Amino acid sequence: MARSDSSSGFESPAPVVNGEKNSKRSKSKDSGKKQARDRDAKNAAAAAAGPNGTHMVGERRSSVSKPARDFRDKPEPSPKRKKRKTSTPAAVKETPTADETGDVPTPRSPSPVIDFDGLSRPSVGTRKRLEEDDAQKEVRLERMKGAVRTLLECVGEDPDREGLLATPDRYAKAMLYFTKGYQENVRDIVNGAIFQEGHNEMVIVKDIEVFSMCEHHLVPFNGKMHIGYIPSNAVIGISKLPRIAEMFARRLQVQERLTKEVANAVMDVLKPQGVAVVMESSHLCMVMRGVQKTGSTTITSCVLGCFERKEKTRNEFLSLIGVNR
Ligand SMILES: [Zn+2]
Repeated sequence: MARSDSSSGFESPAPVVNGEKNSKRSKSKDSGKKQARDRDAKNAAAAAAGPNGTHMVGERRSSVSKPARDFRDKPEPSPKRKKRKTSTPAAVKETPTADETGDVPTPRSPSPVIDFDGLSRPSVGTRKRLEEDDAQKEVRLERMKGAVRTLLECVGEDPDREGLLATPDRYAKAMLYFTKGYQENVRDIVNGAIFQEGHNEMVIVKDIEVFSMCEHHLVPFNGKMHIGYIPSNAVIGISKLPRIAEMFARRLQVQERLTKEVANAVMDVLKPQGVAVVMESSHLCMVMRGVQKTGSTTITSCVLGCFERKEKTRNEFLSLIGVNR
């Protein structure tokens, strides 16, 4: 009860409405309830004080993925909740902060994966890029080539020497390929390949090779993604899962968001009992520059629906993909 009241306590500091709701309860419990409400309001305020909505380095996966979760997957509060949290796989490079150790429900912001025109999180200019004609395409390519030429000059090269003559053209085209996912959408990729099989056992596609671009440094990161789901009778054409991963990977990304977007997209198009996505990858921005840790792997995960609710299901998935070693 106390947990479900906390969101209204967060919005209005005076918990009059809650008091009216609970008026049926015996008066002896009222003081205890008030204390609980006060505590919840305090917790909610503390949560709101943090940079919500932005990427917090210290956040654990369970809270990182919360805002994007479907309201249908909201787990029922249970006493086991804390225990589950400790065993949930989180992004390895992240560590929990003090304000995340408390069981504070964060307010969820709506973030639909598939927007009204099916582009799946279009950025500014995505629609323009999709709909432009040949002349406009040529203009855009020329602008990109000019920018690459500038880059070459700025690093001290001669863009007119033989080896570099066609480099601006090649790089511009390569960049467009690395980001081709902006022009794709989940609906076209799935293309109706959802079949009512009455199958309700776990389906996993593992070791999907993924190449993406780090949006902070514009250098690649690559690795393997494992996607699992438990159908609710309907199954998706098995080749569609790697294609959905590819679509979101061929954009400017951070690994955390890529993992989440793939999970949410599968959840959205298929409506299974649950989806789990784990990605392990190596970031060139870490390997070639900065800390230069060549052997390090970054693991991110996003679990939705029954994978989030049931530890046993999650562990089955993790042991099948070989991460739970
Ligand atoms: Zn980077």
